[in-house]
Amino acid sequence: MSTTSGTRPTAGMDGSATDALLRMGRRFTKKSTNVADDLRTVTIEGGRDADTFYRDRWSHDKVVRSTHGVNCTGSCSWKVYVKDGIITWEAQQTDYPTVGPDRPEYEPRGCPRGAAFSWYTYSPTRVRYPYARGVLVEMFREAKAQFDDDPVRAWASIVEDPEKARRYKQARGKGGLVRVTWEEAVEIASAAHVHTIKAYGPDRLAGFSVIPAMSMASYAAGARFYSLLGGTMLSFYDWYADLPPASPRCSATRPTCPNPPTGGTPRT
Ligand code: SF4
Repeated sequence: MSTTSGTRPTAGMDGSATDALLRMGRRFTKKSTNVADDLRTVTIEGGRDADTFYRDRWSHDKVVRSTHGVNCTGSCSWKVYVKDGIITWEAQQTDYPTVGPDRPEYEPRGCPRGAAFSWYTYSPTRVRYPYARGVLVEMFREAKAQFDDDPVRAWASIVEDPEKARRYKQARGKGGLVRVTWEEAVEIASAAHVHTIKAYGPDRLAGFSVIPAMSMASYAAGARFYSLLGGTMLSFYDWYADLPPASPRCSATRPTCPNPPTGGTPRT
């Protein structure tokens, strides 16, 4: 987008602050680097020296084997390219054991989400804090003030009120998340559990633990929590809702699977 301010055309980036930063950045670039007036392109002069930009982007010190742990079972093996301790890019590993002559091999194994993971790792949008739906947080705080700081009665007053329950459930998936403290996030979750047990019984609890492939200890803590309460432990596939059928199926049936089922006895 390009707009005009008086007679001078201005760049159409995110706003005047972004433009100012980019224009200031031009002062610190080498003379051989040319930044276009609209700040959208960078060109480098100097024959083969101009390749530096491209070579730097793909250069690396070492390659390590890893996978992806957020919202995934981490079933795929990846080559992770690292430079100065920073992940620069990734590529799918291609050294899986064969599954035999009568079916397709695993490779290539990996999804677009995983391929973009090296960017996500350092993204400013990466979630680092607890967030909750703003409408629910507001109602919970108001209810706590109304019920002498009792979180369980506060929660009950929301979920037992059809109109209030409808308001916070309808907000699901529409953004409007606000950052909350760990204390408040845990308090809301705890109040919900206690209320459900009191009102309906512990066998009406149903929950998830984290993915066992990435943290056995964390997974076990969550599973034990629900087991001790008498609730139902759901599969982590239900949590992130993208059941990869081939993963559990191959684990259960193929002795060569690199991702044997958690807690099960590997076939021999
Ligand atoms: S399914 Fe995607 S995110 Fe998960 S380990 Fe494989 S490539 Fe990574």
